[in-house]
Amino acid sequence: MVELSGKYKELGISEKVYRFGEETLASLRERFDEIDRIAEYNQLKVVRAMQLAGVSEACLLGTTGYGYNDLGRDTLEKVYAAVFETEDALVRPQITCGTHALALALMSNLRPGDELLSPVGKPYDTLEEVIGIRPSRGSLAEYGVAYRQVDLLPDGGFDYEGIRAAIGERTRLVTIQRSKGYQTRPTLSVARIGELISFVKQIKPDLLVMVDNCYGEFVELTEPSQVGADMVVGSLIKNPGGGLAPIGGYIAGKRECVENAACRLTSPGLAKEVGASLGVLPAFYQGLFLAPTVTASALKGAVFAANLYEKLGFSVVPDGQESRHDIIQAVTFGTPEGVIAFCEGIQAAAPVDSFVKPEPWDMPGYDSQVIMAAGAFVSGSSIELSADGPIAPPYAVYFQGGLTFPHAKLGILKSLQNLTDRGICLV
Ligand SMILES: *Cc1c(COP(=O)(O)O)cnc(C)c1O
Repeated sequence: MVELSGKYKELGISEKVYRFGEETLASLRERFDEIDRIAEYNQLKVVRAMQLAGVSEACLLGTTGYGYNDLGRDTLEKVYAAVFETEDALVRPQITCGTHALALALMSNLRPGDELLSPVGKPYDTLEEVIGIRPSRGSLAEYGVAYRQVDLLPDGGFDYEGIRAAIGERTRLVTIQRSKGYQTRPTLSVARIGELISFVKQIKPDLLVMVDNCYGEFVELTEPSQVGADMVVGSLIKNPGGGLAPIGGYIAGKRECVENAACRLTSPGLAKEVGASLGVLPAFYQGLFLAPTVTASALKGAVFAANLYEKLGFSVVPDGQESRHDIIQAVTFGTPEGVIAFCEGIQAAAPVDSFVKPEPWDMPGYDSQVIMAAGAFVSGSSIELSADGPIAPPYAVYFQGGLTFPHAKLGILKSLQNLTDRGICLV
């Protein structure tokens, strides 16, 4: 067997922490095999989609200016539509991030007087300003779109009665966030999302359902668009970009929903016909090609971290055994020092900027200070090994990514090394 402890020692991992990691890993072989099977399935899905769409060498070339007849852009959108089994897709570098993609999907598919409903509690922090839950310039509220929310039940279940009561004449669009985001609620499986969609559509068949798919892509065999979602929306600097996409977002769904979004992104009348792809198409294609195995690496990292920190007595969501529906792992440390030690460990394991010490700061879009660790090739990419911790109770850290499992493992061991060195926990 290859002896690794010496190499880990060079990177600042003690023999004790390394051994503790190995013991934890030994119990995870079956879990990892299952993750690899899902990646294999999704790899086949992506390759088949590329073949069916007729991806050619010419698709890798970019356009400038208006970008009329951009073959690579148009073909990539066909590939996304095939992967998500939707009628159409909008996949663009002009969509700057996940929040932008979600705002675009909402603002283009809602009209003044409509009501938006979240039946799964508070949405992701940055959407509060998009919706106008926190008053903000240009929000949906400013345009006369109302918002209603039904929280999950204390056990994480759907409040079916509450949801039924909240659906009214004006309710037009239902937004469902798959991932837990910066919360400790459970992430929703595609199957549970499907149940919720059936329920709301039974009450009001012409409702549109949008799923915030951030961090969920390729974690399971199916996507929410295969269980009734009219739109799935996400960021290319998360799972589907495979670590290579330097920017971008996607909206895949019903033709009309995608068309609405395109008219808002560019202009009424221009819609999907313009939008130069510049030089990003090779990264978009190759990133999507790698996304299933990159997502699997991140998932293994999350499962490893959950089991490691669970053994040490910290509360982890999801727990070590639970099935996974996104790549985020929450670990609750209960103190700011724990959050900071963890994030400093992740940063110290990075290939880029490993010498930098992350500090809590007031981030745009978030209402408490946040410490972020990321030494990424693509700035802000959270499919790369990264950790975010809002400096607020319960002092939980949200860890995600790792383009390769060995790198995720190094980061997790480095975080544990920091915590033990500072006396926050013992191995
Ligand atoms: C990351 C994320 C977003 C926002 O994406 P950004 O690219 O950071 O703007 C929205 N929803 C969820 C669930 C996310 O994880």
